[in-house]
Amino acid sequence: MPHVNMLDVGGLRAGYDKLEVLHDVDLRVGEGRLLAVIGANGAGKTTLLRAVSGLIRPTAGRVVLDGRELTGLPPERIAAAGLAHVPENRLVFPSLSVADNLALGGWTRRRTGKGAARRSYILELFPRLAGRLKQPAGTLSGGEQQMVAIGRGLMAEPAVLVLDEPSLGLAPRLVGEIFAALGQLKAEHRLAIVLVEQNARAAFRVADEVVVLDRGRVVTTGTPEDLAADDRVHAAYLGGG
Ligand code: ATP
Repeated sequence: MPHVNMLDVGGLRAGYDKLEVLHDVDLRVGEGRLLAVIGANGAGKTTLLRAVSGLIRPTAGRVVLDGRELTGLPPERIAAAGLAHVPENRLVFPSLSVADNLALGGWTRRRTGKGAARRSYILELFPRLAGRLKQPAGTLSGGEQQMVAIGRGLMAEPAVLVLDEPSLGLAPRLVGEIFAALGQLKAEHRLAIVLVEQNARAAFRVADEVVVLDRGRVVTTGTPEDLAADDRVHAAYLGGG
């Protein structure tokens, strides 16, 4: 049975004022699949996630989530439709506790009354947070803050999770823990995940498919195995070694 495309982005164009950054970008992510987006600084990776989650308005193309067209809707409507965006630099509320940071992520689902179950599930995914629920989020390590940022996104029970460079500045062990959690989310919870990463080696280990973005265009797409075997991709993004 072919897998369902949970997120389908086609012909997407977006940018800032008169500057077009994304030129005709296509990508698709199935249920239970992880798509890694790699590319040099300034390739447009962050802009792509912003355009998908409604933080900037695409000038052309479409964003379809589980068959529902969301193009041009404001970010809160796109979030409510099932897309969680974990931005770069893990924006936690530093003076609020871990528990309160997580609770804030659940506002769109508050009426379902499933917050407690969601929180337990997030604490199973990130056991490090379990003993730190009352601690101000700003006093956590960078990796733990990233876990809070992801956990906050998951509180809304998204079908699609998009993450902007979650490994940035983190120790390898924490990167391993976070990527293992992403693996669990796609395999056990059937989430469709878009992972923007500079750390291509780590991303390749967890991805089902990889897209290479260069100056706002998708230049290569394939499985991590296919792309690792491509000399140009290897030299440019996997350190050549
Ligand atoms: P990095 O890996 O460095 O985060 P990126 O691939 O995520 O890079 P973007 O942040 O999407 O790239 O930036 C793509 C282009 O858009 C760059 O040329 C950048 O200067 C430009 N850009 C980004 N944000 C803005 C903004 N708010 N206003 C104007 N131009 C912007």
